[in-house]
Amino acid sequence: MFTSSINFEALQGLVTGKDPVCGMDVDATKAAAVSSHLGQTYYFCAAACKQAFDAEPAKYLPKN
Ligand SMILES: [Zn+2]
Repeated sequence: MFTSSINFEALQGLVTGKDPVCGMDVDATKAAAVSSHLGQTYYFCAAACKQAFDAEPAKYLPKN
């Protein structure tokens, strides 16, 4: 099926991040909070998640 209009918001909405604190997938355009750590951008579902991350980032980052 074809539609006559392209939803640019949907295209831009492809940028998603995983909230490292609670593990939720967060739409970058709708993130409640954003934090940068070691050159990476992290998105959070709530300000409380960002605060927890900022307090102790290493606790929430995946260990490689
Ligand atoms: Zn969260």
